[in-house]
Amino acid sequence: MKENRILMQYFEWYLKPESKLWNKVAINAKYLSAIGITDIWLPPAYKGAGGKYDVGYSAYDLYDLGEFYQKGTIGTKYGTKEEYLNAIKELHANNIKVYADIVLNHKIGADESETVYASEEQQNNRNVDTSLPKKITAWTVYNFKGRNNKYSDFKWNYSHFNGTDWDESGRKNGIFRFSGKHWDQNVDKENGNFDYLMGADIDFNNPEVVEEINKWGKWYIETTNVDAFRLDAVKHIKSGFMADFIHNMRKIKPIDCVAEYWNRDLKTLENYITKTNSSIPLFDVPLHYNLYQASTSNGNYDMARIFDYTLVKDMPSLAVTFVDNHDTEPGQALFSWVQEWFKPLAYALILLRKEGLPCVFYGDFYGVPAHNIKPMGEKLEKIIKARKYFAYGDQIDYFNHHDVIAWVRTGDNEHIDSGMVVILSDGPGGSKMMNVGKKLANTVFYDYTGNVQETVYVDQDGNGIFYCNGGSVSIWVKKENIYS
Ligand code: CA
Repeated sequence: MKENRILMQYFEWYLKPESKLWNKVAINAKYLSAIGITDIWLPPAYKGAGGKYDVGYSAYDLYDLGEFYQKGTIGTKYGTKEEYLNAIKELHANNIKVYADIVLNHKIGADESETVYASEEQQNNRNVDTSLPKKITAWTVYNFKGRNNKYSDFKWNYSHFNGTDWDESGRKNGIFRFSGKHWDQNVDKENGNFDYLMGADIDFNNPEVVEEINKWGKWYIETTNVDAFRLDAVKHIKSGFMADFIHNMRKIKPIDCVAEYWNRDLKTLENYITKTNSSIPLFDVPLHYNLYQASTSNGNYDMARIFDYTLVKDMPSLAVTFVDNHDTEPGQALFSWVQEWFKPLAYALILLRKEGLPCVFYGDFYGVPAHNIKPMGEKLEKIIKARKYFAYGDQIDYFNHHDVIAWVRTGDNEHIDSGMVVILSDGPGGSKMMNVGKKLANTVFYDYTGNVQETVYVDQDGNGIFYCNGGSVSIWVKKENIYS
């Protein structure tokens, strides 16, 4: 029986090493599978410059999955290689697909520095040099002595990078482009050219780099047996490289993927999808910002337009929808945290629709203690389960009011007692007369969330009047269903 997929991002920014994430996810695999999680995105598993305290995005050694004593530790923030592989095994044993977080744009935490000629670039227009080429001392030598050539004897030096942001001898911050190098052209156009993000920026025009990263990708899939990749920071990497990399990896295993292209402009995302031959779905950043704005508009957002200018509306099969992630949390660079009161509405909008692959955030599910954010717990679990049990069949929209919007899922024959009515409001409570179709005609419905206590009777023609409270969502399902 084909069930609805639900991806879960299984980490948040402020986790502590003591939480031993690999062991936690292994222990919880059975429970997560039971409530309806089918896919899990794990954080970067390799050694970062910050050792035990690195979230994973300051990638140092992609071959060190918590196996070698480097950066002051054997394990990463999340545990050892053995624990990582065990977690993947446990997730697989519970029919959950595993996404690995792949950070290819840059390296941080070099072993040695070297003298390089470089020109300084203007911060907000990286196409403009502000200096002639001059000698700088760049941190670009990576020899991974702690790993001692195991898995790969590739050594990185300045010739494998385009530039960096720190001149050691001049003790100077800036954006330094190495002489003879140019920024990749097929990247985001912000700041003139957004190839450079941080650390030592990898040069994807260097054939040695391309060969080594493809070799690593094959090693990663064969070592870990992951099913999918979450590709980090792709707007800073030339699109052609990413498309080729995914194409090559799919010769090894038919992996899924989703990429983080952080831009709220829909056309920019669609342009990337076109350039990568529709082979790389993207997170729906424009939808995240719609949800964020709705949550901060004091009930004055036009809910009928919540899906306007979103990827899930335009290219539903290439959209991964989400409410928040590790970068949008309080205190992070892309802070745009969807307000708590709106979270159940936002999750209903991603989890109970036909279109898109929804992604549930760890920080919503378990809370973010570092910022006093309480777990949604049961509230979110109910919406996840509602997707698993009821969100099947045709979808009929009632997006005809600026506060109260609703949709019907008619249910299908494959899933007993499936079908539902979702109604929500960012303003005062309200109701709508809706038709649930023939299959669910002449039935009593109740609110699966428990937000509304009364029941609703649907007549022989399938018509009923459904309610929700103010600033709230109700999920109406057949009263005596096999799951209750
Ligand atoms: Ca780059």
